[in-house]
Formats: sequence, C-alpha cells, structure tokens
Amino acid sequence: MSTSMLDQLYREVILDHHRHPRGRHELERIDIEESGLNPSCGDEVTLQFELDGDIIKDVAVIGRGCAVSTASGSMLAELVKGKTIEDARKIAEIFKRIMHGDDPPSEMDLGDLEALTGVRQFPVRVKCALLPWVTLLRAAVDASEKRAKVAGGEGEGSANGDG
Ligand code: ZN
Repeated sequence: MSTSMLDQLYREVILDHHRHPRGRHELERIDIEESGLNPSCGDEVTLQFELDGDIIKDVAVIGRGCAVSTASGSMLAELVKGKTIEDARKIAEIFKRIMHGDDPPSEMDLGDLEALTGVRQFPVRVKCALLPWVTLLRAAVDASEKRAKVAGGEGEGSANGDG
C-alpha cells in the first residue's frame, strides 16, 4: 500500500472516532477520576474509571479539543475497557514510546490506535495524541495509591453483592 493510501485510511479511522467518540457516557460509580490539559492546542480531557478490583469495568472519556485528541481518547475508551489497570498502563507506556519514535511492538494489538501513530510526523500533534494516555498514567498512580490506602484500613462493608 502506498503511503498516501495508508494516510487516507488512517485519516478515516481518526475521523470516525472524532465524529463518534466512544466512552461518552456517565458511569454508575466513579472510582478514579483524572483530568489533563494540553495548553499548546487547548485540548482538555477527563477520564473516569469504574473499577472492579484491578479491572477497568467501565471508562468514561469526557473531552474537548481537536480531532486528534478526541480520537485518541475514544480509542483509549475502546482499548482499556475490561483490561486491568496494569495492562492499560502498559499500553499507555508503549504508545508514548511509539509517539516518540520507537517501532510498534509486533506482539501487541493496538487496534485503531495504530492509526494515530501516523501523527508522529507532526510534532505539534504528538501532545494531542498523548494527552488522554498521559492522563491515564496519572490515573494509574492514583489507583495504586488508593489501593495502598484500602489495604491499610480494610473495608467499609460495601453492600455491593458479589465480588
Ligand atoms: Zn489538539
């Protein structure tokens, strides 16, 4: 496939996520919330996670910004739902490295996120693409701190049925 055809394909994937962003819904319960800002473009994003132990049971992505940051947040919602926080953190780390010039690892399926790696050619846009993922990395730190706290002072008797 020629580079321009690939670009075209990538652009369509990005535009689809931009037009129909995934993860735009309210969660029943918010366990972790983290916001991020990309001043150089004016992008804003808030990530909310509903956790079931270590598993991201549901994720909401609320944001305002350019097509690249919106698409990236939408892809994040699609990719991390159902995964553990640790797996989500790994994807974020890998995506960050790719955007800074590394080759994508062949053993990892990045899904639609692969379309965003083309943005590397535009350094100004790299921050837009990374915003939701950098925010996720901070949320992962929040999650581990929260867990450390819970482990310290066991249980408030949650009436949450099965566990
Ligand atoms: Zn942007």
